[in-house]
Amino acid sequence: MRTAEAFRKKSGIDVRLGHRAEAIDIAKSHVSGGGPDGKPFDLAYDRLLIATGAAPIVPRRPGFDRPEVAVVKTLEDAQAIKARLQSGSVKRAVIMGMGYIAMEMAEALRLREVAVTMVKPRAELLPWLDAELAATVRGELEGHQVELRTGFDVAGIEAGKGSGVALVDTGSASLAADLVIVAVGVQPNSRLAADAGLQLGPSRSIAVDRQMRTSNPAIYAAGDCTDAFHVVTGQRAWIPLALRANRAGWAVADHVCGKEVSLQGIAGTAVFKVFDLQVARTGLTLAEAAQAGFAPAGVTIASSSRAHSHPGGSSLQVHLVGDRRSGRLLGAQMVGREGAAHRINAPAVALHAAMTVEQVSQTDLAYAPPFGPAWDPLLVAANQLIKKMQEAS
Ligand SMILES: Cc1cc2nc3c(=O)[nH]c(=O)nc-3n(C[C@H](O)[C@H](O)[C@H](O)COP(=O)(O)OP(=O)(O)OC[C@H]3O[C@@H](n4cnc5c(N)ncnc54)[C@H](O)[C@@H]3O)c2cc1C
Repeated sequence: MRTAEAFRKKSGIDVRLGHRAEAIDIAKSHVSGGGPDGKPFDLAYDRLLIATGAAPIVPRRPGFDRPEVAVVKTLEDAQAIKARLQSGSVKRAVIMGMGYIAMEMAEALRLREVAVTMVKPRAELLPWLDAELAATVRGELEGHQVELRTGFDVAGIEAGKGSGVALVDTGSASLAADLVIVAVGVQPNSRLAADAGLQLGPSRSIAVDRQMRTSNPAIYAAGDCTDAFHVVTGQRAWIPLALRANRAGWAVADHVCGKEVSLQGIAGTAVFKVFDLQVARTGLTLAEAAQAGFAPAGVTIASSSRAHSHPGGSSLQVHLVGDRRSGRLLGAQMVGREGAAHRINAPAVALHAAMTVEQVSQTDLAYAPPFGPAWDPLLVAANQLIKKMQEAS
């Protein structure tokens, strides 16, 4: 996206490509590793930032090292997949996983007329999404001829009959593919930190404070490799997404340069597109809220993306979760063809402000017929949730 030369010239940063950090010697304040020709390097530091990101999880099962198997992490990964598609050798693809990267790949492949089957071992399509909203996503995928095979746990990948490969599941069912995309999740690249004895957080991410310092004050960590404080629970959470990675990087720079920094944390706000649908969430699900010790209640409503009198509107589903004890809003989810992606930012701000559902229901939201009904779908859902919370308490 940007060249190393640009960093060197514009910012005077000594960028060394092809250098893999292998070890941190905390006692000597040194980082060592291997350079481009296997040449070792050893660098001293006053302050160190670990920003090693996350890595795709690839199951340790037979056949995952075959050339037909790809992950989608770097630009090079994507370019390699694109080159294979352009060669015309890919007619059938199997995508392992049903998260947002898997769905974005399903769309990209269907647009190139590749037959797509998505597989995962568990029964739910998107376990974190309210069932009614998840059913809409399922309909969108199936409407674009994406075959969904839940309960398919790939035990191994072997040579196919003729060309391609066969994915065999634990129950001996078999699926043929010319391309297998593994998108079953990521894990933090925290080995360097763990080996150096730094404290780890959830999912083995690197534990950092609100100044992005690790358990060693001379060492910072930022981005997908670290945890963050969740604004709803106040607990440490590992949710690897781009904004908070960027923000953490800025925070480290500010703190190293002597500015006061205290990051508020994350709400887990996320959005993705699957074909013509926008899928968005922020905060906690009902299950997460219960697990965090809240007394959650939830509602799901279907409203319209435009005023009912305005042509071209479509259904917009909103799911809200609130706490019966404190009245606080805990989470929101939205699915629709329009109006979901940016509308999710309103409840995200409400979560940061620790607003109650009642307060959310009283907010003065914008209205004009092309953009929503006079009662915004978020307000409709908040009003319903207030009733539900009163019934439940
Ligand atoms: C396909 C895809 C789509 C995505 N879409 C979205 C989206 O729509 N919205 C969103 O919010 N997020 C999205 N993300 C997530 C987002 O890309 C990450 O949250 C973000 O890139 C994290 O930035 P980072 O700097 O922490 O890590 P990275 O961008 O992963 O950078 C880590 C860097 O560290 C280097 N590195 C690793 N180990 C070492 C080592 N030992 N020595 C030296 N260097 C090392 C790596 O080579 C890499 O350059 C997406 C991710 C993927 C893969």
